[in-house]
Amino acid sequence: MAVDSTLPSPLGPPACEKDAKALQFIEEITKNVDSVQETVLGEILSRNAETEYLKRYKLNGATDRKTFKSKIPVVTYEDLQPEIQRIANGDKSPILSAHPISEFLTSSGTSAGERKLMPTIHEELDRRQLLYSLLMPVMNLYVPGLDKGKGLYFLFVKAETKTPGGLLARPVLTSYYKSEHFKTRPYDPFNVYTSPNEAILCADSFQSMYSQMLCGLIMREEVLRVGAVFASGLLRAIHFLQINWKQLAHDITTGTLNPKVTDASIRECMSKILKPNQELAEFITKECLEENWEGIITRIWPNTKYLDVIVTGAMAQYIPTLEYYSGGLPMACTMYASSECYFGLNLKPMCKPSEVTYTIMPNMAYFEFWPHESSTSVLSRDSPPRLVDLADLEVGKEYELIITTYAGLCRYRVGDILQVTGFHNAAPQFRFIRRKNVLLSIESDKTDEAELQKAMENASVLLKEFNTSVVEYTSYADTKEIPGHYVIYWELLIKDPANAPTDAVLNQCCLQMEESLNSVYRQSRVADNSIGPLEIRVVKDGTFEELMDYAISRGASINQYKVPRCVSFTPIMELLDSRVVSKHFSPALPHWTPERRR
Ligand code: AMP
Repeated sequence: MAVDSTLPSPLGPPACEKDAKALQFIEEITKNVDSVQETVLGEILSRNAETEYLKRYKLNGATDRKTFKSKIPVVTYEDLQPEIQRIANGDKSPILSAHPISEFLTSSGTSAGERKLMPTIHEELDRRQLLYSLLMPVMNLYVPGLDKGKGLYFLFVKAETKTPGGLLARPVLTSYYKSEHFKTRPYDPFNVYTSPNEAILCADSFQSMYSQMLCGLIMREEVLRVGAVFASGLLRAIHFLQINWKQLAHDITTGTLNPKVTDASIRECMSKILKPNQELAEFITKECLEENWEGIITRIWPNTKYLDVIVTGAMAQYIPTLEYYSGGLPMACTMYASSECYFGLNLKPMCKPSEVTYTIMPNMAYFEFWPHESSTSVLSRDSPPRLVDLADLEVGKEYELIITTYAGLCRYRVGDILQVTGFHNAAPQFRFIRRKNVLLSIESDKTDEAELQKAMENASVLLKEFNTSVVEYTSYADTKEIPGHYVIYWELLIKDPANAPTDAVLNQCCLQMEESLNSVYRQSRVADNSIGPLEIRVVKDGTFEELMDYAISRGASINQYKVPRCVSFTPIMELLDSRVVSKHFSPALPHWTPERRR
């Protein structure tokens, strides 16, 4: 789209010529939402006209919205599984996309216990890059002087695997950080990081975090913003500092790198950054020795203007802890994205977490919205639901996001529920309400009710020889300590008290539950150490009846009462915790390898 960057931006005065162009682009695209969306759909359908998928639904080369909506079904990942499996097995024919599938992006959403595989095409990297390029121009409107220092960002790559057909399968950020777009990005004074690429690109999470933290400490006075992708990642970094500050201070005193960091490229680049600095080491020791870590972020990085972390959706649980460690610094949630597609950005990134809204950029994909009313929650292929276009949404209403992407997903249900809060020009702005079917989440893991139930059933098999069964259970994502962990409350029926399950058996039940949870959970436990051992708290007989009495006293109907499978309401937690008779923790790590089980 041609952009006239000489016009003043209604978003505010740009910081530089490059920003002016980006802001003007946002203006143009948000003014012309509907025509941009029409063009995007037309482009996707014409380039993919000969794909097996569109031919199957007899689109016959049509590229208009009406024909598309009447012929193409709304689908979930499970519906596309056969096509995705064929691509993964090496079928290179144009199944979903006319452009070759360049790799699979592995989502933190799972299907049958494994990460979902999202096909992507090479040019999607450009689209992601474009969205990234809009973030700083918007931020510069609110925070001046970000070109005078650096960003301390804790960024990580994760393990990658190959599908049977030889395509890479890895998380979207791993794909991005390993791309030339990121590795050879041109110098931009507004986007200078303390972490060297070598540290970010090291797959060993300890070595990567250690060297990123060390650089952050060495450059502490230059740091103007501190961030990670999600709030949980930043808290993990603080926890890492709590555990490792002595060694870090030792490295700074001596100017030598911890021998546990063995990666040759990190060692080489750190040799240029790390010099003996007694004064800095003493300062870090003094701050970290303090019992009280309140405001530690601003104490160590005194010039930090804001935290750059997502604290919307499941991450909202971390806001109080981040406030504590940062002494109340603003938290900027800059973008909303997924493995399937990058969606949009927050045009007021310095707003309060509770007021964050994301503006979907209409050039990223073709977006449709399914009005979220519980009465219409079953989709039928015979009568396709009436999905609403991006330009036709109503303020106040909630919708489920449905996308059609350049990479070949057609009318795909992402699973996110969004509420329209207003408009920027003609572009709706959304509050992220929730992801469907997520019961427990500590960081990127998403455990649903069926997975928890299955894990519970598998673990309770171990109780059989003790003539014991689980009468009722519920769960809680405990994020008070870092790393957070799953807590499962069990009420047991012990038929033979003389042969009750021992402590060791109940510990094994914890491990058995973990073994049954999905691969994202197990990866976080094993590779990232970002989730702590699962805990079972056995509660007294009758506790769940008390829970029901409590719900009924607050207006629940006896007929319809169901035990909540996850709890977070303080009085309920207090009730449960006051009835705990024993606590048990997983004694070992569950199994996890980067390879998929299927
Ligand atoms: P993944 O497929 O692992 O990339 O995860 C993408 C999902 O993360 C999205 O569909 C959302 O549910 C969630 N997510 C991404 N960005 C945000 C955000 N800014 N706020 C809340 N949730 C988000």
